[in-house]
Amino acid sequence: MAKPRVVITGAAGFIGSHLAETLLDRGYGVVGIDNLLTGDMANIEHLAGRDFVFVKHDVTNYIYVEGPVDVVLHWASPASPIDYLELPIQTLKVGALGTHKALGLAKAKGARFVIASTSEVYGDPLEHPQKETYWGNVNPVGPRGVYDEAKRFAEAMTVAYHRYHGVDAKIVRIFNTYGPRMRVRDGRAVPNFIAQALRGEDVTVYGDGRQTRSLCYISDLVDGVIRLMLSSANEPINIGNPQELTIEDIARTIIRMTGSSSRIVHKALPVDDPKVRRPDITRARTILGWEPTITLEEGLGQTIAYFRTKLAVR
Ligand code: UDP
Repeated sequence: MAKPRVVITGAAGFIGSHLAETLLDRGYGVVGIDNLLTGDMANIEHLAGRDFVFVKHDVTNYIYVEGPVDVVLHWASPASPIDYLELPIQTLKVGALGTHKALGLAKAKGARFVIASTSEVYGDPLEHPQKETYWGNVNPVGPRGVYDEAKRFAEAMTVAYHRYHGVDAKIVRIFNTYGPRMRVRDGRAVPNFIAQALRGEDVTVYGDGRQTRSLCYISDLVDGVIRLMLSSANEPINIGNPQELTIEDIARTIIRMTGSSSRIVHKALPVDDPKVRRPDITRARTILGWEPTITLEEGLGQTIAYFRTKLAVR
């Protein structure tokens, strides 16, 4: 049988590049598409020479891929709050028009489809932990609305293609994920804290630091996504680590693990910043047989090592 072929939009991004690499390791051929708006060729340069083709393209425009395609993984989107604040229209366009084009490609090729959705569809949640059945608490006109509503639209579009066109479409709701290949200037908590701690700068905790997040290491996330891709599930599935931590605790752990003398300073809490976030992963456990295995110490250790090399060359 021919090698299965996967198209990944956003392949030069943090998660997209890890998906590409793991799928190559598992014997897939990969076509990576990215317009490099927030992605970086440095994340995928090492894949040259393998069964990997890169296409520089903005997926809000028609996507042309020659030959058979077995799976489309639609990962393209700005994903850090500072990115989608700076790129609001592009964020809305890739979530809406880009999802439409990626679904169109899956339909034309008879391919499976997986959309990278997000815990942001739950907004500032009034239900805790968040189950997939929760509809969310999102402010459509707040600064995060451009991302949250684009992803909510993307989910609706995905379900419509499943119901009306019979596309075998899947939705993964990704909770905070971290690991090597996050950008030094990414703006999210983990890369900010690590870069600040390694440089001996003040570590910026927004608000009182008592808001919570649950951090999933990249290899666990990738394993969950591939299990979902191979499953027969069509309902949304949360993938994330249910270990809930305060942002202040995350900052302290990073300062300790880097051996830094940085101090914590508090800055204003961004508008509509969710106060709590923790996935209920019962569905992932029962349907996919998945749960995270990498501890926070292990995952942060790997990520800190990556940032040490990155910062040394700059
Ligand atoms: N945060 C922080 N300092 C930073 C960056 C983020 O305290 O330098 C906080 C942010 O306000 C939020 C949490 O850390 O409460 C996680 O933010 P992140 O940007 O990583 O992603 P989010 O989960 O909000 O999408």
